[in-house]
Parts: sequence; C-alpha cells; structure tokens
Amino acid sequence: MIDVRNVIVIGSGPAGYTAAVYSARADLKPLVFEGSVTAGGALMNTTEVENFPGFPDGIMGPDLMDNLRKQADRFGAELVADDVVEVDLTVTPKVVKTATDTYHAKAVILATGSGYRELGVPNEKRLSGHGVSWCATCDGFFFRGQDIVVVGGGDTAMEEATFLTRFANSVTVVHRRDELRASKIMQDRAFANEKIRFVWDSEVVDVLGEKKVSGVRLRNLKTGEESELAATGLFIAIGHDPRTELVKGQVELDDEGYIKVDSPYTRTNLDGVFAAGDVVDHIYRQAITAAGTGTAAALDAERWLAERD
Ligand code: FAD
Repeated sequence: MIDVRNVIVIGSGPAGYTAAVYSARADLKPLVFEGSVTAGGALMNTTEVENFPGFPDGIMGPDLMDNLRKQADRFGAELVADDVVEVDLTVTPKVVKTATDTYHAKAVILATGSGYRELGVPNEKRLSGHGVSWCATCDGFFFRGQDIVVVGGGDTAMEEATFLTRFANSVTVVHRRDELRASKIMQDRAFANEKIRFVWDSEVVDVLGEKKVSGVRLRNLKTGEESELAATGLFIAIGHDPRTELVKGQVELDDEGYIKVDSPYTRTNLDGVFAAGDVVDHIYRQAITAAGTGTAAALDAERWLAERD
C-alpha cells in the first residue's frame, strides 16, 4: 500500500509556508518541499522588509521567513529541504518525485515562485540589497532624495521609474534600444515626468561602489563608448521568469508562462492542483499577496478534499 498524503506543497516562500500553516492547522498534515538551496524563497535575498503587515519596525527578510517556517512547523507541517524534480499531476493520486524518493498526494499546491532576471554584470549580486533592487514597491521608500538608475524598456520599467520619482531626486532609464517596448500610455506618462531622463542604446556593464551603490558603468551599444553615471540606486526591471518548468505540459500556463488559475480561486485546470504566489501573479508580486493566495490555496485544497472524503 502506498502512503497517500492529503496535501503536498511545493515551494517555501511566503505562499508555500502560509499554505503549510493553514493546511497544518486544518489537520491535513501537509508535506512541504522547500527546495535544497533556496528554502525560504525570494525574501532570503533581501534585507529589511518594511511593508509586511504586523511588523511596525520592519523585519529582515530571512527573519520573516524563519518565523513563517517555525509557524508551519509548530502546527505539524512536515518540512523537507529538497527539490521536487518531477511530477505527474494528471493521475490519482498525484505523484511527486525528488532525486531519491517518490511521494503521493491527493492534492498538490504549487508555490514555486518566480525569479527576477539579472543583468549578469559584475558586482550586481554583491550589491543586491545595498542599492541594487528588483522591486520599486518594496524598496522605493529607501531612496528618498537620491539619484536612481532604472534598467529596462517595458511596462514594468516605466511603472517602476514613474513610481520611483515620488521619492527620488532623479531617475535615469537606461535602455538597450532607441525606443521603448512599453505601452503608449506608460511611455507618455514617463516622458511627461520631469524627473525622468533616458539614456538610449546603452547597457549597464558594471555596478560601482564598495559597500553601497555609487554608480553604474554604461556602454553605448552603437559607439562602444563607456561612461560612468553616478547613482545610489539601481533598479533592474527586465522581467521575471515563473518557475513552471516542473509542470509544463500538465498545468495550463498563460502566454508568459505563469500558471493559470480560476481566479479568485487558486484551482488550476487539473482537479486537485492549486497554485499560489508569484508563480501565478505577475501583477502584484508582494510577500503579503503571495501569503494571501497561499491561504486561499490551502482553503481551496481543504474544501476540495472535504468534498471527496
Ligand atoms: P518565492 O518567495 O519565490 O518562493 C518560492 C520557493 O519555491 C523558493 O524557495 C524556491 O526554492 C521553491 N521552489 C521552486 N521550485 C521548487 C522545486 N522544484 N522544489 C522545491 N522547491 C521549489 N515583497 C514584499 O512584500 N516586500 C519586500 O520588501 C520585498 N522585497 C523583495 C526583495 C527582493 C530582493 C526580492 C527578489 C523580492 C522582494 N519582494 C518583496 C517580493 C517577494 O519576495 C515575493 O513576492 C514573494 O517572495 C513571492 O513569494 P512566493 O512564495 O510566491 O515565491
């Protein structure tokens, strides 16, 4: 006889751990795959989180995730620091495999998150959280009165640049081409903003600064000429990649590769498979919204199981 779990949660960011807290408190004894090297999700790579409700003085990203993990553990979630490498979500019970073991579950919650695209230049990682950011909503507040560079030419880049002008002294958008990809309305808004200026046909080839960002090195792609631009913030807005490799061909994805759910529910096209957090959401991308949909996924799974028992 195979051991069939009620719920397996794949992912350990705010969505996965919150789904674990709720399903553990519903006595479903969830099994949670946290990932082998990246347990805790995106917030493990950041410093201060000031916008997660309930922490008036802010909290360090890793501390917040450690608290969430402990909370899931306290209610009996089984936490496994391993990667899921293969799934079959089309069969009953559903099959979830790590490199060494095979597990079965009635329901599966996918909370694998998304990864931001990096520039891939020297010092980008080292200065992440020290002036280099991927999220204006998260970090804009820290850059009051400062000069900021935004890299990208799409809607997100224009939205971030425009949002950052609320705090920044100036925002310079660096784009590889001589025109933007962003929608006309976003472009018009950015062009009309006196604090935003553009550096065209250029890429950032390095981030400067010892402990904090002090500027960027630019290369003009037409002339090859390099120059330095002083700035204390660098926001990279060149896109995100949802982690859906595992479920491609099984779970329905949208045009950008994010998991499609029957919103406001978290159910996917496959019966008993639910999805939450940034692997679904390319609009809000916040810890609290990921936690919120993690809650919804646990409740949806709980109700789905109750209807079948
Ligand atoms: P993630 O946090 O990405 O977690 C997904 C997890 O799933 C990862 O641990 C990953 O390892 C795991 N996983 C993936 N595939 C597998 C697999 N096959 N097997 C096992 N595990 C797997 N938001 C805020 O609200 N406030 C902030 O201040 C803030 N600051 C940020 C700073 C940075 C630098 C970044 C990158 C993001 C920030 N965000 C912030 C955004 C926030 O971190 C995300 O919106 C949130 O973490 C998304 O949660 P998630 O659970 O969907 O995914």
